[in-house]
Amino acid sequence: MSIPPTILVFGGHDPTGGAGLQADIETIGALGGHAVTVPTALTLQDTQQVFGFEAVSTTLFRQQAEMLLEEFPVAAIKIGMVGSRPIFKALHNLLLQHPTIPTVLDPVLAGGGGGALAENPLIEGIRTLLMPQSTLATPNRNELQRLVPEADSIEQRATTLLQSGCAHLLVTGTDNPVPSEAADRVHHQLFQADGTQQQFDNPRLPHSYHGSGCTLASAIATRIGMGDSISDAVSSGLQFSWNSLQQGYQPAQGQHFPNRFFLS
Ligand code: PLP
Repeated sequence: MSIPPTILVFGGHDPTGGAGLQADIETIGALGGHAVTVPTALTLQDTQQVFGFEAVSTTLFRQQAEMLLEEFPVAAIKIGMVGSRPIFKALHNLLLQHPTIPTVLDPVLAGGGGGALAENPLIEGIRTLLMPQSTLATPNRNELQRLVPEADSIEQRATTLLQSGCAHLLVTGTDNPVPSEAADRVHHQLFQADGTQQQFDNPRLPHSYHGSGCTLASAIATRIGMGDSISDAVSSGLQFSWNSLQQGYQPAQGQHFPNRFFLS
């Protein structure tokens, strides 16, 4: 049997299993990768919203991350919820020490159903210190607006982030449709540092989902770790996520969850 590529994930734990590290582990495993995970935070949430979170010990975080990076041939890194300023600084240093590992950053600011997962000072840090070291960042339009509030359009905001060093930016359109778009489709735009742009779209699905952003970023990181180009990884990551949502389920009264095992 060939050895699955190792994908290193930094993110929060969502006890409901819809988002966070569990979403990452399921996605990476379903696509044939091996997930190694370093928790940044524990969260308090149900399937409707986030009520709070607590960051983990920074020392433990840093030591565990270093241990994994020492022992495993990490093919790609995926970053989700960051949790606290000290964790965020430790993460920044780790990325500086491993500049050749492709890194996918999902700038998690809030839970899908509402509830903050990053305080305001962290948002600026994500933009100025983590984005520039990312191979690809995957904000939705709302996250993009919060990351670059001074610009007026998606294109201007994307250009600002690309100029700061983030090599590729996938702006996802799963938040509410904008008037210029067909309401029954979701539109995603991939901006590349060389100035090229690529559009993707899928039929809009009927429910509100928990963990779709985590699933997408992990799927893309896994495909990049397997050697796909950014454009191919984005295309297959979007398809995997859409299929998992389309075949998703509602385990309780709140949001629907992706079914990341639809392939099996
Ligand atoms: N990471 C954690 C730990 C979460 O709890 C959540 C949402 O609740 C997210 C990330 C983001 O979830 P989504 O993929 O729905 O944007």
